[in-house]
Amino acid sequence: MTDHEPVQIEPDNFRDGIIIGGGTCGLAVAARLCENHPGSLFTEDEHQRFHWLKQRGHKTNKVKSKQRFDYDRFHPKDLLVIDTRNNMFMAQWDSQFSACQIPHLRSPMFFHVDPSDIDGMISYAHLNKREKELMEITNVVGKEFSKHQQKRLKSKLKSTDGIVDINMRDWKDYYRPSTKLFHDYCMEVVERYRLQDGIVNDEVESIEHRLIQSGDDLGKGFVIRTKSGKIYGCKFAVVASGHRGKINYPLSICPDPHFPNGSCHTTHLFSKQVQFLDSQYFSNPDRKNIVIIGGGLTSAQLAHVACQDPTVSSVHLVFRSGIKIKHFDFHLDWVAKYKNVKKSAFYNLGTNELKYEMMNEAREGGSINPEYYKKLKQHVKNGRLNWMTETQVVEQGWENGSWELSLRKQNSEAKRLSKIDYVYYATGIQADVESLPFLHTMFDEFPIDVCNGYPSLTDNLQWNKEIPLYMVGKNAALQVGPTSANLDGARLGAERIGWHLQNMKLQGEFDWSPVSVITNNDGRSSTFDKRLQLAGGSINWFELLEFEKIN
Ligand SMILES: Cc1cc2nc3c(=O)[nH]c(=O)nc-3n(C[C@H](O)[C@H](O)[C@H](O)COP(=O)(O)OP(=O)(O)OC[C@H]3O[C@@H](n4cnc5c(N)ncnc54)[C@H](O)[C@@H]3O)c2cc1C
Repeated sequence: MTDHEPVQIEPDNFRDGIIIGGGTCGLAVAARLCENHPGSLFTEDEHQRFHWLKQRGHKTNKVKSKQRFDYDRFHPKDLLVIDTRNNMFMAQWDSQFSACQIPHLRSPMFFHVDPSDIDGMISYAHLNKREKELMEITNVVGKEFSKHQQKRLKSKLKSTDGIVDINMRDWKDYYRPSTKLFHDYCMEVVERYRLQDGIVNDEVESIEHRLIQSGDDLGKGFVIRTKSGKIYGCKFAVVASGHRGKINYPLSICPDPHFPNGSCHTTHLFSKQVQFLDSQYFSNPDRKNIVIIGGGLTSAQLAHVACQDPTVSSVHLVFRSGIKIKHFDFHLDWVAKYKNVKKSAFYNLGTNELKYEMMNEAREGGSINPEYYKKLKQHVKNGRLNWMTETQVVEQGWENGSWELSLRKQNSEAKRLSKIDYVYYATGIQADVESLPFLHTMFDEFPIDVCNGYPSLTDNLQWNKEIPLYMVGKNAALQVGPTSANLDGARLGAERIGWHLQNMKLQGEFDWSPVSVITNNDGRSSTFDKRLQLAGGSINWFELLEFEKIN
């Protein structure tokens, strides 16, 4: 088959759009594409006007209201989501929350996937009388501190984290939903947009940008091949594959990690390849000592679970840096009253390298929230936890079925930990978009710039201006900012993609032109052939027009 011959796709396997990944980002994109009146980015005032227009749109100035509010939405049947974990949304999210036994999200109420309303989760909690499942994020809104107290605190603290000004009007947002409430709210979004039948359990192995024919439809789109041998086709595709990249495991000091019986990485826990404190393995009374390595919230959450387990004798938690306490994964000023100032400063940076630097500054490596800081301090006080900060593992060896670890604390002597039965690495994943196997063909055929593992996309989160492959979540961080890998980024990214695609639909620039077959008896090139060449990119519109004029 030549490059100009179309790949035949069964009409049942053809959709307008295919989303790779059914996590929070995949759900946010699917819901946004099916939403006609996206309101989740509007302020309260805009929202009121928006509802007013929605009710009275037919009586108001059509030109203005149409420009702003009439998007051409997609229907659930136009979309397909492919996910390796399950044929239901959020499988990865649920699994990471159950592995770490997390009772409440880290993020506030306005971090969610619902495109229709920024206050949607608060309304959902109240409507369902589930206010008790919200946990207040204290010391953020300023409720507990008078201005005088804040001033005193600011002069005492080096950093102003935790006492950033928040618009008092927004105080209700600074609660965190319970894991169950958030899950149920997401399922309500799935139901509202009728997305439940549009997700299949399979793994995408490759994406190619090719000429496609499906029934009478012909044009250039994506051929998506999966592990089960299926071939799907679509006009646009969205990569929402989450945090995949280079996992920091094994460490250079320990090339043989004895996986899965001696150690594992948190990704193995989240993918359920290994169970945390596996009951079979830890039922052996001689196996009781564990080490958790990593300075973020996940390691703290695992340490808390282990300390509560009476079958575990000793828990050692190793932080390479000092303890950083933050409510969220990034500084508060990326979330609170002045977030737009921060975000616009980010968007205006001239190079990807500068954006990458600003992202790192905002996230500052791993941090834990005050809730888990208090919990761990209590375990240290009770003698359940050995919390080693500013400490690095410098040597790790496997001897007679257990680990010997050498650790070095800044400016002090090396320490040893002996007879360690299991090491859990919560050492994170480095972005490395080029390592994703299913994107190899795209990188080979349509290379784009990559900065420190992050792709350089267009502002619409598109591969480039010609190719309608979009990315959301961690892979869109250079365009969306430091919150891209979180729920905030899921909704922001979905908004950019959704707006762009719906707008193209509205302008008539999205659909492929249907091609009718004109047969020539004299053996000359038919209009069909020429249009194929146009869609395949081997001729341009002027050449086609010229051809049609002559014929
Ligand atoms: C323990 C923990 C707690 C967290 N808590 C919060 C929080 O409270 N608030 C917050 O904002 N953020 C939180 N985060 C960050 C969180 O991971 C992100 O907010 C969010 O889940 C990322 O969503 P995603 O859709 O990009 O990725 P995921 O949820 O990982 O979903 C990606 C999906 O794509 C699938 N996939 C990947 N490759 C393929 C392929 N080739 N073919 C088909 N499917 C594929 C995966 O199987 C997966 O199901 C937390 C993270 C962790 C680890």
